[in-house]
Amino acid sequence: MDSNRLDERHVMVRDQMEKRGIRNPWLLQALLDIPRHLFVPPEVRDKAYEDRPLPIGRQQTISQPYIVASMIELIEPHAGQRVLEVGVGSGYSAAVLSRLVGRVLGVEREGSFLPEVQKRLAALGLANVHLKEGDGTLGWAEESPFDAVLVTAAAPRIPPTLLTQLKVGGVMVIPVGPKEGQKLVRVVKRSESHILEKELYGVKFVPLIGAEGWPD
Ligand code: SAH
Repeated sequence: MDSNRLDERHVMVRDQMEKRGIRNPWLLQALLDIPRHLFVPPEVRDKAYEDRPLPIGRQQTISQPYIVASMIELIEPHAGQRVLEVGVGSGYSAAVLSRLVGRVLGVEREGSFLPEVQKRLAALGLANVHLKEGDGTLGWAEESPFDAVLVTAAAPRIPPTLLTQLKVGGVMVIPVGPKEGQKLVRVVKRSESHILEKELYGVKFVPLIGAEGWPD
């Protein structure tokens, strides 16, 4: 038996990523390298490579693998970049991203997730991810500005503070819309005053709860 489940990741990458147009070769390699089954609770471990989101406890979910890959591809990750992730959850998307950029700064509202995430990242030798508990709708001022911002919870509108913490030329990918279903939006900060927004496709994320998100 393949205890590292590399075979399952090869099938996932071929059927869920390549066939749907994910092309970034470093991203595809990161998806092969990161053992997603170690980021989900033991009772759903056998489903870790299926084409769907999974429960991770506290009414939160780890996103469908394709959505993680697509969102990461859309921020156009490059070596050396500083990227903010809002909604760390299981830590899976942060782990994949950490293979592609210089530094991942992750904010998670549910602090009880973080010790386990820290352990997983350390066990995989991913030392360029820095996490804190807090309201990610307010970003992480001390670590800003960012080359890119990835928001993996559903916002009622684009949080203005996240835009101010994005560099000029930077990209944000964020699900925006009502709690029942959202549009994935790709935002490019052309200049301090020129923000370009493009709606991509329909998604359904758990709510982004905070000062510039949904009320608690
Ligand atoms: N990227 C995650 C999926 C996260 S699910 C993964 O790969 O597993 C969305 C997460 O956003 C949840 O963990 C939820 O607690 C968190 N969240 C919701 N509102 C938040 C906020 N204002 N700031 C930071 N995290 C938030």
